[in-house]
Amino acid sequence: MSVLDIRVLGDPILRQETKPVAEVTDDVRRLIDDMFDTMRAARGIGLAAPQVGRTERVAVVDVEGGKNPIALVNPEVVSGEGTIVGEEGCLSIPDVFGDVERAASVVVRALDRDGNSIEVRGTELLSRCLQHEIDHLHGKLFIDYLGVFKRRAALAKWSKLSDRYPRYVRRLPEVEVSGTSGGAGEAEGHHSDEEM
Ligand SMILES: [Zn+2]
Repeated sequence: MSVLDIRVLGDPILRQETKPVAEVTDDVRRLIDDMFDTMRAARGIGLAAPQVGRTERVAVVDVEGGKNPIALVNPEVVSGEGTIVGEEGCLSIPDVFGDVERAASVVVRALDRDGNSIEVRGTELLSRCLQHEIDHLHGKLFIDYLGVFKRRAALAKWSKLSDRYPRYVRRLPEVEVSGTSGGAGEAEGHHSDEEM
């Protein structure tokens, strides 16, 4: 088990379509375990394979602080209900947040770490996180949902922060000195601090 480097906005892998996993092999299980380790090291609530430079259609989520870790292989949203707007952040666009409209609840079908079919029903934060991770598996990022002005503001903020990540790589031990903003300016509005 190991903590992997996280790819940040600008790395083309974040815009690529992933490949469905044909069989849940030991390699896939190792990837899942490493992704859980990486997500926890980054204090995130979800992580998708492209964020660690991989092209397998695999994601992990855990919105309950370790109580309910879910590994998802080849996940698909099979139904969604209602809409809700909430703030999102992304481990691949650290410190940038924006309001995104999502389905309020979803049902996701996937394979688990053992290759068994599972159905996950999510509401609230789990619903949001599932949709965010499945988007990653299709090259989509939360900033794509922002209106033109908010998106421009998010990208402007990112352009100031992105120097911290040479070659679009976020190496966790060094960057996880939380609470310091590198002197980049004032703290902005309160946010949930949940990145995925
Ligand atoms: Zn993300």
